[in-house]
Amino acid sequence: MAAQDECIFCKIVAGELPGEIVDSDDRTVAFMDVNPATPGHALVVPRAHAADLMAISDEDFEACTLAARRLARRIDEALAPDGFNILNSCGPAAWQTVFHFHLHVVPRYEDDPLKLPWIPGAGEQSEIASIAERIRGEG
Ligand code: AMP
Ligand code: ZN
Repeated sequence: MAAQDECIFCKIVAGELPGEIVDSDDRTVAFMDVNPATPGHALVVPRAHAADLMAISDEDFEACTLAARRLARRIDEALAPDGFNILNSCGPAAWQTVFHFHLHVVPRYEDDPLKLPWIPGAGEQSEIASIAERIRGEG
């Protein structure tokens, strides 16, 4: 049995599981998250199963990105939040729990209580620079 046969997001895309669908196009479907981080929290997924950021095709990734902004604009009109976080978790270490690629579209409100689980602090500039070199292939 292929992984996607048991995938809850494939089942939502196929209409085999209930989902509060808010947008769709040829490549993507967007539906409300059942455990909303804030009011209006929704997910954008590709119709074609891909486990994560590493596996999704360029075409579907582009389509999901555009769909996330389209949805954010729609939420903006509907709910007038104060901002948005667009999030993707890739891999269990990054808190991914559903292994069908998705972008979280999280409307933010000035007084919302949401705290992502990291505390921003000033980085060490030399360390940041050396990591950047490694990412560029210079290290
Ligand atoms: P992640 O932890 O980044 O993989 O996000 C998975 C998200 O899917 C979580 O925010 C869950 O609340 C959400 N979720 C899980 N099952 C469903 C479902 N059946 N319908 C809508 N959202 C779901
Ligand atoms: Zn799937």
